[in-house]
Amino acid sequence: MRVAKLVEKNKIAVSEEEFCGVTGSDEVVIQVKAVGICGTDLHIFQGERDDVALPRVMGHELSGIVTEAGSSVTHLKVGDKVILDPVMACGVCSTCQKGHENVCDSVKCFGVQMDGGFQDYIRVPAKQVYRFPEHISFEEAALAEPFSVAANILSRAGACTEDSIAVIGAGTIGLSIVQAAKGLGARVLAMDISDTKLNKAKEFGADAIVNTKDTSFKDAVECFAPGGVDVIIDAVGISPFLEQCIDLAASYGRIMVISFDGRPAEIKPVSVTKKELSILGSRMNCRKMPMVVEWLEKEMIQPKKMISRTYVLQDIQQAFIDTIEHSDDNIKTIIRF
Ligand SMILES: [Zn+2]
Ligand SMILES: [Zn+2]
Repeated sequence: MRVAKLVEKNKIAVSEEEFCGVTGSDEVVIQVKAVGICGTDLHIFQGERDDVALPRVMGHELSGIVTEAGSSVTHLKVGDKVILDPVMACGVCSTCQKGHENVCDSVKCFGVQMDGGFQDYIRVPAKQVYRFPEHISFEEAALAEPFSVAANILSRAGACTEDSIAVIGAGTIGLSIVQAAKGLGARVLAMDISDTKLNKAKEFGADAIVNTKDTSFKDAVECFAPGGVDVIIDAVGISPFLEQCIDLAASYGRIMVISFDGRPAEIKPVSVTKKELSILGSRMNCRKMPMVVEWLEKEMIQPKKMISRTYVLQDIQQAFIDTIEHSDDNIKTIIRF
């Protein structure tokens, strides 16, 4: 089978390797059909993640077909069209026992700390695998993972129909949030510096879009929801934005933090107290794939419209370079198999 490995910074090599099938009774083999390139992959590619050892097969947004199933696997069979939940926790620590696997101390992600989807076949625990509806394409299904991230964020925020929601950044995650939040019936403001991305947000039902090159966050939010927004999500993820989010939130607002920025943010406790704000983190997803499959089934989300570029596996190196080069207007690049 073909395996695309990041062998050194900025260099992916495609090689032929032997593949051995199911070993564990609770495992399945997936023939990979489509994999999305995520911002995380781009960071790894450019050597910006020191927790990732090379060589590494990246890719955590994947879909495919089950080609083998272990003897104890009951919910999947050969031929099923599936997606992978890449969040792998230990399952036994107290955090996992309480049901918060995504924040397990030893949590790993396929394609990051373990090999992922940029290869013809992958062997994974069956419990990580979910079927998706027949009429959804593999390319669309590869976007289930970013939607699971959006599902986790909105569920942590307790977002509901009555809420006004502001999203900073209209990349894959921002646009996934816009669609999911509109599906909930909330009012949504999308902010970005790219008109292309903002027009997508509009297409996905955003009630207002603002280019923050021309208008400040403060003015944008004030105009959209005088007095502040109920939920504010920084999908760009830099610490100065967190300080602004505190000011832009309404009373009883929820501020969603999904950033891996290690720099400190200055927050005045009085602002949090006076408005009874909640500052909530959200990391990857915690068993949200079934929810996303339901969204796909109901056509509440439109993953197809988020695909900007597709490449075959042989051209993966070019796919990464083009995605980085066109970062201002590229939403999702898909590698097809
Ligand atoms: Zn991702
Ligand atoms: Zn654990």
